[in-house]
Amino acid sequence: MTSTLRGTDHPVAARTLAALLVLGGLMGSVNLFLPGVLLPGVREWVYATAMAFCVLAAIPLVVRGRVSPRHTFGLVLLGDLIYLVVAYCTVDPLRFATPLMLLFPAFVAAWFLGRWELGVNMLVTTGVCLAALWPSHDDAVGLGVQVGVSAGMLNACAGGVFVLRRRIERLLSETQTLSHLDPLTGLFNRRYLVEQAPRMWRQARRDGTRVAAMVLDLDHFKRLNDAHGHAAGDAVLRAVSGSLTATVRPADVLARTGGEELVVLGLVADPDEAAHLAERLRTAVSGSRTPDGHGVTASIGIALTRPVDGEDAADALWRLVDRADAAMYEAKQQGRDRVASMWVPRARAPLPGENDPAAATDVG
Ligand code: GH3
Ligand code: MG
Ligand code: MG
Repeated sequence: MTSTLRGTDHPVAARTLAALLVLGGLMGSVNLFLPGVLLPGVREWVYATAMAFCVLAAIPLVVRGRVSPRHTFGLVLLGDLIYLVVAYCTVDPLRFATPLMLLFPAFVAAWFLGRWELGVNMLVTTGVCLAALWPSHDDAVGLGVQVGVSAGMLNACAGGVFVLRRRIERLLSETQTLSHLDPLTGLFNRRYLVEQAPRMWRQARRDGTRVAAMVLDLDHFKRLNDAHGHAAGDAVLRAVSGSLTATVRPADVLARTGGEELVVLGLVADPDEAAHLAERLRTAVSGSRTPDGHGVTASIGIALTRPVDGEDAADALWRLVDRADAAMYEAKQQGRDRVASMWVPRARAPLPGENDPAAATDVG
């Protein structure tokens, strides 16, 4: 599943890890100035080096502003190692090197890394607890209980955070999907249509195609509701949506933008292609039936635009839809159950050698 939470490539992750490293290094450095905490001699130097390394490890994170999962995994293992160094360099590990320090790498692994990295860290956590607590225990049973309790608690916490994170990711992903869908028909909604505009405009500019908007308004829908009830109207909306979904091309966006109004947004090479698609949509609507045999027709308005550099896609989308809407009213006036196009006067002269009637008519 794609993660919907901020992953390790997000600057916040890099800054959080950097802050943890600096905080850990600075807090640990306090022991260098407290008498009777560290074992004298080489171990004091090893301890000081570990703390300095901890702080220095934050620098690349801040500079780059991002951290890869592999780098994060390395930092998690570094955190485990630093705990081990603390345990070996302090006079009384039970007092000055609580295994709770391992919560930091454990939580980082659980929140940012995958299943197997978390599993590896759980094993490392257990091993590190054993190695750190060993010198403080004479009997194997006491050591076993201490390691079991410490590593068990740490791993249970990390496992809990991991499960929680997975649930949040799933929930966010489902919420995002739902926020794009219309609950009655299952079609995309207005919000999704707007979100897709920049992508469509970009693609049209890249491919040299046009964006077509088709506004569909069901005919005499109020009459159908009045005659058969709203439930029948809803069933018709669902049947129409099903037929249209099966008719649009895979890259088209079909959205319900209002009560009985739908919009299809797609890329076309020329007005003929748009007119052909609109005609197929019209046939799909008039051919759809509910299980009770209710049906409806639709009036469809088409407008095309050729995106230009620098225009705001969302603004351009609504200008295009407004024109398609005007064409749809034209279709209503002409008797409904038909397609009408809104071509606007040319906004620019055709380029030399360009013999394209659409270029003169579809620029919005
Ligand atoms: P026209 O051919 O001119 O478009 O006539 P119309 O009756 O379709 O247009 P009008 O705007 O007068 O009525 C639209 C109707 O659509 C009114 C409203 O009750 C109905 N409607 C809008 N949303 C829903 C819905 O979600 N379910 C049902 N059953 N009806 C809806
Ligand atoms: Mg309407
Ligand atoms: Mg209508």
